[in-house]
Amino acid sequence: MKLSRRITQVTDGGSGGWDIYFKARAMKQAGAPVIELTVGDHDIPTHPDILGAMDASARAGATGYSAVPGSERLRAAIAARCTEMTGVETRVQDVIVTAGGQAALLAAHAAALDPGDTGLFIDPYYATYPGTIRAVAGVPKAIAARPEGGFQPRASAIDAAAAGARSLLINSPNNPTGAVYSRRTMHQIAEIATAHDLWLISDEVYDSQVWQGTHVSARALDGMAERTLVIGSMSKAFAMTGSRIGWIIAAPEVIRWLTILATHTTYGVPGFVQDAALYALENRTRLEPLVAAPYLRRRDLAMRVFSQSPALHPAAPQGAMYVMLDVRPTGLDGIGFADALLEDTGIAVMPGESFGAAAAGHIRIALTQPEGRLETALRQIRAFAEALLGRRGGAA
Ligand code: PLP
Repeated sequence: MKLSRRITQVTDGGSGGWDIYFKARAMKQAGAPVIELTVGDHDIPTHPDILGAMDASARAGATGYSAVPGSERLRAAIAARCTEMTGVETRVQDVIVTAGGQAALLAAHAAALDPGDTGLFIDPYYATYPGTIRAVAGVPKAIAARPEGGFQPRASAIDAAAAGARSLLINSPNNPTGAVYSRRTMHQIAEIATAHDLWLISDEVYDSQVWQGTHVSARALDGMAERTLVIGSMSKAFAMTGSRIGWIIAAPEVIRWLTILATHTTYGVPGFVQDAALYALENRTRLEPLVAAPYLRRRDLAMRVFSQSPALHPAAPQGAMYVMLDVRPTGLDGIGFADALLEDTGIAVMPGESFGAAAAGHIRIALTQPEGRLETALRQIRAFAEALLGRRGGAA
């Protein structure tokens, strides 16, 4: 039997630089002492109070089908967070609850693209982006954001790619680069989206993790509310990756169609998970900093450890929970470096190449270990890189 091209072509068949991740997992399973700094999953567990709310809700009976777009109270709490954080008045009818940010990304592209339509995205990118666009039979097209420009997307590059495209997917604060798009960049993106009549899909799942600069939500820009779909998630802000709950904020007409789509896909998110998210959002001034603050400390720690290294150049992250390092002075590309590092030290990081061509020659470190263990690993990475440079006859 022949499966559809839609499903068999979600990925392009390559490993996308994920070999090292799978190798590290295999080594760990075989009992090797591997330190994983690969994927963006917290070492911080979901707060016990959130779990208490989840348990209480399930025991009180929220185990049947739930409201497909999410409960009114949860949608109102998400809308209130959005209003507070962006200054844009947001209402219940602007919000749909989804099974995490990933399901939101898929639904948003299903809303924006017809089969064969081009969906633009910025490279370096979160690994699922091109596959998500292909999964709705769209054609992904990458636009490079260069390390020399601090990984800020360039207006000229977006404009050049935009002719004939239908949507543009952006991500600030950015995974993997840590870039927070400047107000100027955001204004330029808004102008181009308007000029080319693009849907703007704005992945803002790291909006609670901003270390430098200001997070400008795409929906807050003049005239953009109608064409923007904001992707949000409980995963990163509340350490709830496993609960699979996120949202889309968009115009009520878009939410109405997304609700019809959800009726035919997930049929809603479990009620007890929604109630846990509601509890978390109602207590967000207490709970969000408990997750965000360690990442700021770890980011500053990484900047200190890598300071003035001749072998590694960090792109100072302005947000999110990662550090990107240019490893080209060592003579290796990202894949070669990450592979040799794993073999030599048992430390697993992601090669930049797994996030697109623009991140080649880099590695991404997820800051997902407690400070003591993280510091030891970061120092080992620096020493490893400087030894490589020394062998090449470099400065170290
Ligand atoms: N968007 C970005 C940029 C991410 O880094 C991730 C996860 O790492 C997601 C979306 C999806 O997150 P979730 O589906 O857990 O909300």
